[in-house]
Amino acid sequence: MSQSQSQPSRVFHRHLRQTPPVAVSAKGMTIRGADGREYLDASGGAAVSSLGHAHPDVLAAMHAQIDRIAYAHTSFFTTEVAEELADDLIAHAPAGFSHAYFVSGGSEAMEAALKMARQYFLEIGQPQRTRFIARRQSYHGNTLGALAVGGNAWRREPFAPILMDATHVSPCYPYREMREGETPGQYGQRLADELEAAIRAQGEDRVIAFVAETIGGATAGVLTPVPGYFQAVKRVCDRYGVLLILDEVMCGMGRTGALYACEQEGVVPDLIAIAKGLGGGYQPVGAVLAQRHIVEAMTEGSGFFQHGHTYLGHPVACAAALAVQRVIRRDHLLQRVQANGPVFERMLRESLGTQRFVGDIRGRGHFWGVELVADRATKRPFDPKLRVHAQVKAEAMKLGLLCYPFGGTVDGRSGDHVLLAPPFIAGEEHLQDIATRLSRAVAAATESANRN
Ligand code: PLP
Repeated sequence: MSQSQSQPSRVFHRHLRQTPPVAVSAKGMTIRGADGREYLDASGGAAVSSLGHAHPDVLAAMHAQIDRIAYAHTSFFTTEVAEELADDLIAHAPAGFSHAYFVSGGSEAMEAALKMARQYFLEIGQPQRTRFIARRQSYHGNTLGALAVGGNAWRREPFAPILMDATHVSPCYPYREMREGETPGQYGQRLADELEAAIRAQGEDRVIAFVAETIGGATAGVLTPVPGYFQAVKRVCDRYGVLLILDEVMCGMGRTGALYACEQEGVVPDLIAIAKGLGGGYQPVGAVLAQRHIVEAMTEGSGFFQHGHTYLGHPVACAAALAVQRVIRRDHLLQRVQANGPVFERMLRESLGTQRFVGDIRGRGHFWGVELVADRATKRPFDPKLRVHAQVKAEAMKLGLLCYPFGGTVDGRSGDHVLLAPPFIAGEEHLQDIATRLSRAVAAATESANRN
């Protein structure tokens, strides 16, 4: 039973034996529960909330849109606000992107990207391309297509018999997988060589796309790629005519200090999926940005993309996303995230870096991961049965802190990390508060796990 309900909850919650506390209001960096407790939002939910809660400009834009037109089906109409949002996104996207396809979230964006890529090859007369290659430890969403390319063993396992076949290569995970004596450049090249071998094993003209999160997020605890990795990967894709689909659902839209994380890697993909930070949590909205050659092939070929959902380009979702993008620009929030990155890193290293069970602290901008280990010297993870990540979450909530811990960091089963993704509006005092409270939560959870 929830705190404010006398009846058992009829909501089909994520966990059926426990009902989470009721959230009643939110403002800025804080969410307030029905019991009056306040929680500092250090993860923006799941790296969603970029402007914090109840931002007046976004609320005003949504109210105005609802009063104008709340819904029109995209098989009959387009709307001014969808057109404006597409113009806005394309104007600020990396080179070559020409169109935005609007959906309702990250999984939908990935499904659409996978199908766009497949249809592209049908349009240009390469129907034999049927395979996707992605990475272990990745997360691309929970719908069947996105789950199939995703590389998280735990999430895939129950549904494996009903997933399309996809090939998984190594993630870029320097903390665990870069060899002793190997330079980051050599490591990145080794991974690109592995991709090349995987493409050749499928058949040189059989692969549709390589799919990757530019920065690995939820399941791997913020894996920033080594310099040059994505450029090497792109060269391999180009050599075999394989498309590059980058999933920036979590790391895009400013979270790393650039609107698109791939700009920081010096690569331009063929398709890019965005969601979360696009609407900042004010509306469920996602998008696929497509390069001109993809759209032209469909325009000149069948003339349509064989896909669609009822809520494509929802006007209120587009209004929220447009307002979020405008505030980010007007308030110079990308610059703020860039500047905050090293400051937050220092705070995290000072408060957590010396803790006995903290193995690695990694990230960029307002996107950080803290990997927890039972033994720093050997990097041995905690026994998964201890569910250290769940303990950290519980300890943090006791301290009024919302962070986003997960298990299975190493191989989908063992390993624990905490993901932090504070809203871009966070000031230094918030960042310090997050580092301090998290340090206490991690210490309490890991010391208790160590005793068991
Ligand atoms: N892709 C990435 C990289 C994600 O982090 C997520 C969600 O965490 C998704 C896709 C799925 O997005 P959604 O939960 O909005 O369907």
